[in-house]
Amino acid sequence: MREIILVKYGEMALKGQNRSTFEDVLLRNIRYRLKQIGKFSYAKAQSTIYITPESGSDESAGELLDAAMPRLKKIFGIAALSKALTCEKDFADITERAVPYLEDALSHAKTFKVEAKRSDKAFPMKSPQICAELGGILLEHYPHLSVNVNEPDVTVTVEIRDTNAYVHAAREKGAGGLPVGTAGNAMLLLSGGIDSPVAAYMMAKRGLRITACHFASPPYTSERARLKVEQLCEKLTPWCGSIAFYCVPFTEIQEQIQRNCPEEYFTIIMRRLMMEIACRLAERDDCGAIVTGESLGQVASQTLPALACTDAVATMPVLRPLIGMDKVEIVDLARKIDTFDISIQPYEDCCTVFTPRHPKLRPHPEDVAAAQAEFDFAPLVDEAVLHAEKKIFAQHISEANGF
Ligand code: ATP
Ligand code: MG
Repeated sequence: MREIILVKYGEMALKGQNRSTFEDVLLRNIRYRLKQIGKFSYAKAQSTIYITPESGSDESAGELLDAAMPRLKKIFGIAALSKALTCEKDFADITERAVPYLEDALSHAKTFKVEAKRSDKAFPMKSPQICAELGGILLEHYPHLSVNVNEPDVTVTVEIRDTNAYVHAAREKGAGGLPVGTAGNAMLLLSGGIDSPVAAYMMAKRGLRITACHFASPPYTSERARLKVEQLCEKLTPWCGSIAFYCVPFTEIQEQIQRNCPEEYFTIIMRRLMMEIACRLAERDDCGAIVTGESLGQVASQTLPALACTDAVATMPVLRPLIGMDKVEIVDLARKIDTFDISIQPYEDCCTVFTPRHPKLRPHPEDVAAAQAEFDFAPLVDEAVLHAEKKIFAQHISEANGF
């Protein structure tokens, strides 16, 4: 049996002349993701990538395909994927192989239909004829079945393509979106909380490659808190690909804020300094945007006036993919991408260590700027940028660590 995986692009197929770049990036991401599990060969044609396991026996090829499917489902840019049987472009060969191949799918079903896609118009049978004849043969072999064209339990698809015919029964949904890397790079502000990893997932889905920065204030924040953030990076790699991660020393800045600025502005000044440092790192690392996990109204620093005060110091667009989402929706996504359990581990964050008792809900940018000017933070910002520690999180390392 020669089984392969057919990967269909989604939205990408619409991208006109950019399409081949998109395809190349997707293919590169797929190769990168699968090379850890074994050898595959790749081909692309007609908005489809064909992935064939390079393996001696059917059994080991089947294992390779089973290992590849869950990885592929986390790669953005893939709309749908299915395991498929490769046949000669010959109706007798198709039926002879398809009948046993479909046994698993059909023996558990009550109803089915056959769909044919004939992109090779030279094939002697037209689509309705392929459907009718293959449908008849399947009914003979699986007499418990009946045809239901509107709501079948199983849809058997026959695709007649350039070099081969393919038969498949189960089309699975892909992760959707655009391939990571096609939209450029962005700098994520990654706290240890629930929201920012979800923000990373959402922007990676739109094709951004994510670089992350985390502000740590030891000894107020512990080594465990930092490790937690690193674990979040690892958990994100199946979706985001490799992630460059900066841990920024933030203690001195926080202490000086506390010493020199009015308490009601602590958080907002801290966020402005985080934004300044993140933008500096972002510029250096060729990022075109900042990403945060903020959601409107969630806390005092996420009111519109507070967001305006933070944006005032940004030197590039600030993307906030969760801005209109409820916590429940964010938590659902965090569970889906499996970051939730790490995020709820109770380690302190630098934001919580220096929380003012009565933060200003409607800060004015000029007042905040004046409060911040009580101290010259510029040299400390330079130091923080200089001493940010960089680490790369890559998928194969995450996998080896059990992520
Ligand atoms: P989260 O789950 O992201 O921590 P939160 O409700 O705790 O959400 P805040 O603490 O107000 O939100 O932070 C808002 C955003 O600011 C975060 O989503 C993140 O993007 C950024 N942020 C907060 N603290 C840090 C930090 N220590 N390092 C890097 N970014 C941070
Ligand atoms: Mg937080």
